[in-house]
Amino acid sequence: MNAPDTTYFRKGFGLKQDVEATLSADYAGQLVDLLRARDYRLAAGDVTVRLAKEFGFCYGVERAVEYAYQTRHKFPDRRVYLVGEIIHNPHVNQRLREMGIEILLPAGGVFDYSAISADDVVILPAFGVTMTDFQTLRDKGCVVVDTTCGSVLNVWKRVEVYARDGFTSLIHGKYYHEETRATASQVEKFPGGTYLVVRNMDEAHDVTEYLAGRGDRAAFLAKYGRAASAHFDPDVHLRRIGVANQTTMLARESLAIGEEVGRAMTSAKGDAYRAENFRTFDTICSATQDRQDAVNALLLEPLDVMLVVGGFNSSNTLSLAALCAEKVRTFHVEDALCIDPVRGTIRARDTVSGAEVETADWLRSGAVTVGLTAGASTPNNKIGDTVARVFATRGIDPMSIG
Ligand code: SF4
Repeated sequence: MNAPDTTYFRKGFGLKQDVEATLSADYAGQLVDLLRARDYRLAAGDVTVRLAKEFGFCYGVERAVEYAYQTRHKFPDRRVYLVGEIIHNPHVNQRLREMGIEILLPAGGVFDYSAISADDVVILPAFGVTMTDFQTLRDKGCVVVDTTCGSVLNVWKRVEVYARDGFTSLIHGKYYHEETRATASQVEKFPGGTYLVVRNMDEAHDVTEYLAGRGDRAAFLAKYGRAASAHFDPDVHLRRIGVANQTTMLARESLAIGEEVGRAMTSAKGDAYRAENFRTFDTICSATQDRQDAVNALLLEPLDVMLVVGGFNSSNTLSLAALCAEKVRTFHVEDALCIDPVRGTIRARDTVSGAEVETADWLRSGAVTVGLTAGASTPNNKIGDTVARVFATRGIDPMSIG
């Protein structure tokens, strides 16, 4: 019998009870508990806050953060590194730094592991890491604590099967995002495995145009050089396509992209060809889907303004903000500090340009209903702080709400 591997851990260390109190102290939110208890609605004075019924930390994030805490607890005297951010929330990452976990940041998309030795411990984030990074770390002999989310692993399996069967993985995602980089690298498990990443429907149209014979090879390669395998050739690698997606994209858009590309293949080559050479599989994770469904349900209610709380680099938060902005005046804030109750201002990321913009008098006067949701990487205490500042903007102390 092989000796158990003592350098690779995927399920934590069984120390949940040891870190539970610290996790709760760091991230629980009293106001969020109150909102939940009051059917996701809190009213005081002429301000009503309505919270989406699914919001904030997802199962993958909870697990990754808990494993990071367990790791620190298990190895109090070892150097502990984290490959990139554990999740896209500045407060959570800062808290890990305070616990003595060193976050490695990539330069030009490349991590430098030269400082790591066999005596060290390395945590892999919920997004996963590329196959090359994984192998480099395993070769070092250090302890690897892998917190890659199970939903991300499902996408990897899908992409792996596409590569095995000679399909190019067409990934709806952001080519520079950690998760998509890790997912795309899975094609390398098979010689000739190929991927192409498209960010949105506009970019998917470049693919459908190419399938229709209206593409320009050089222009295509120039545009997608960084978003595709090094050997990608549209003349060769768009013949067989399998669609997958980064788990946190807008589900509706992912679905539409799959349909458009499939339709384009039918138009170009016929039904029989498509049946043989096109596959699509929705790999949006259930947490992302639940949060998007919940915010869509909330948007059916009369709201004056919508607040979306989450990191400006958090993909699932950006998707939520985009959905809200279609229906109501929306402010995507990184955290409560973006709201200044004294000056009556809010600093938010513009959902179209991506620029940070400060708006005065954002709550306006009179009775107001504020909708609220938060991305999968936003802890409850940060959501609660945001609620508190909304009320404070109208001079109301939310802790006085009985
Ligand atoms: S957003 Fe989805 S894939 Fe990402 S960590 Fe959460 S559950 Fe996992």
